[in-house]
Amino acid sequence: MLNFDSPLSSLHKIGTESAKKFAKLGLKTVGDLLFYIPFRYDDFSIRREIGALKIGETANVVGTIDLIQNRRSRQRRLQITEALLRDESGFLKLIWFNQGFLTRNLKVGDQISVAGLIESNNGTPQMTAPDYEKISSTETLNTSGLVPHYLSTAKLTQKQIRQAVNQALPLAKKISDWVPVEIRKRLNLLDLKNALCYIHRPASEAEISASRQRLAFSDLFLRQLKSQTIKNELGQLKTSPIPFQKEATQNFVAKLPFKLTDHQRQAAWEIIGDLEKTQPMSRLLEGDVGSGKTVVAAIAFLNVILAGRQGVIMAPTEVLAAQHYQTFSKLFKNQNFKVALLTANYQKANFTITPKLADKKGKQILREEADLIIGTQALIQPGVSFPRLGLAVVDEQHRFGVNQRHQILGREENWAPHFLSMTATPIPRSLALTIYSDLDLSIITQQPAARQKIKTFLVDNKQRIKMEEHLKKEMDAGHQIFVICPLVENSDKLEVKSAKDEYRRLQEEVFPKYKVGLLHGRLKAKDKEDVLMKFANQKLDILVSTSVIEVGIDFPNATVIVIEGADRFGLAQLHQFRGRVGRGQAAASCFLLPSKENIKNPKTLERLTIMTKTDNGLKLAEKDLELRGSGDLFGQLQSGFKDWHLTTIFNLSFLKAAKDEATRLIKSDPNLIRYPQIKARLGEWEKNLHLE
Ligand code: ADP
Ligand code: MG
Repeated sequence: MLNFDSPLSSLHKIGTESAKKFAKLGLKTVGDLLFYIPFRYDDFSIRREIGALKIGETANVVGTIDLIQNRRSRQRRLQITEALLRDESGFLKLIWFNQGFLTRNLKVGDQISVAGLIESNNGTPQMTAPDYEKISSTETLNTSGLVPHYLSTAKLTQKQIRQAVNQALPLAKKISDWVPVEIRKRLNLLDLKNALCYIHRPASEAEISASRQRLAFSDLFLRQLKSQTIKNELGQLKTSPIPFQKEATQNFVAKLPFKLTDHQRQAAWEIIGDLEKTQPMSRLLEGDVGSGKTVVAAIAFLNVILAGRQGVIMAPTEVLAAQHYQTFSKLFKNQNFKVALLTANYQKANFTITPKLADKKGKQILREEADLIIGTQALIQPGVSFPRLGLAVVDEQHRFGVNQRHQILGREENWAPHFLSMTATPIPRSLALTIYSDLDLSIITQQPAARQKIKTFLVDNKQRIKMEEHLKKEMDAGHQIFVICPLVENSDKLEVKSAKDEYRRLQEEVFPKYKVGLLHGRLKAKDKEDVLMKFANQKLDILVSTSVIEVGIDFPNATVIVIEGADRFGLAQLHQFRGRVGRGQAAASCFLLPSKENIKNPKTLERLTIMTKTDNGLKLAEKDLELRGSGDLFGQLQSGFKDWHLTTIFNLSFLKAAKDEATRLIKSDPNLIRYPQIKARLGEWEKNLHLE
């Protein structure tokens, strides 16, 4: 008997070899298959008699093979398989290229079902390379109705996956829905078992969207339950109030090399107000790249440290942590604060301690003595504690799971530090409030006045030389340049520039007289830092990097960013890259170079052209949503959202509905005592999230 935990090899036609291929897709059990959600469908729901076919439509035809044979094309380069399909109303010609094996599978007299676009061959209908399957006693999975497509590797065909899913499908009927029926009724959601049946074998578009709705709800609802639980718990926590140090704050702000924007002031003010309370702050600070969030955090830290408490800031990467270390050391140089950098691979401090920093003992003392500790996730490992923690800041929060965020709140009974999360992901206020319902919100929408508009250009191969001349001019003026490449190393299959190759080309062929550096994720932490430090100290003219440079890095002297293989990045991500320049006084520019394979692709060019026309992160995120459909934005927000293709149906009112239901449920039963099934799902979901 099959059950949810049966291994895939217990299915018909799946041996250990193909089970391994399925495992590559994360599919190990029959239950996994049920929840493997198709990302698109072919519409073969029109079934026609051959005599009634219309040129230009996509249709399904059932008939008998009257003739099938292979031949060589005139140039003998192509093997062509031709077949004649017959039904009572006429004949249809079928053609395949380089699939000679077909004549072994399909024989004259076989009943088959084919599907595809009906083309015209001098006026008579014909199908080229149609999907086909033999009609056996069972149903057709591949050529009729709405046919699902699953994410796959080249090694596993859609037919194989459909076959396997189809065997698993009867089990769906045994699933009992963990979402309470009254909620499903209110929101008009399908029962889970129907949603799973329909998503794999839909009878209509309406069934697809209804199923997507129900399946996406699972994740949204769990997230909201988690947020509401956290919010509830936070409400019961106490913290150490941080008195506002008016004079010191004014002095600090007066000594900054720039004037704060109104929005920075407003955000700092909201944060200071929160810090004064005995309930821990839980706030999201949202501001486009370069809007100046760091200094707002610094103002908060200033007050916290003057109150005798510690601050902690966590960055998504070690590179960014190192940068923050530099920035904060500089910002606090008149304060005599003890600032420390503490990541898995390297440790640093602006004060001396006797034991070696890298030793366990050294790290321990560092955590005890430092006023401000900068690091990565490694900071919140179990057993690590900060004796005087007052404020925890997380930079680029969407890279952290809900759990990790929760962990850093502290392990002491009924006590938690203040918590501030910073993100450059542009989210409209209403959406942010819904998604992060356990957080208050401050938004900086103003860029510092000093900020230069970054001129953005789409460059084709012919203009490359002109661009390189411009780069030379910039370097001669003492400025620095970023070059971003999508890959670290060359891949045979992709015509995409790799950072290593581009580094070599620039250093050896194009700019031998200038100093070029290389940065990518596979370098050792120490080497990464060395390269960045060299760049920061202007010992390098050009830094060739992979996307590790994406978040937060700040080098005011860099005025140009060149993005190779720009088509391989989403608009929101390109915008993040572009935000790496234009941070100083000089004019800045950004050059986008599509990869070879897409250099003439009108869609690519259209998408990249948008970058040249707008520098509004929010607009770009919306455009991305529209053009790429899958929703880069939601992908970033809902990190860990497995079925990204389900995010296409997200909208604000649906998110709100999930939030309202979660709020209602947690209010009526904070510990989910009456809802053991939900509690179990929540636990499972958290566990999975934690593993990511
Ligand atoms: P982000 O919000 O992307 O983290 P940063 O905090 O890194 O932005 O700030 C970007 C740059 O702008 C830094 O070099 C910072 O010193 C500078 N900056 C911040 N606030 C202002 C301001 N009000 N006027 C001018 N420059 C500012
Ligand atoms: Mg930043």
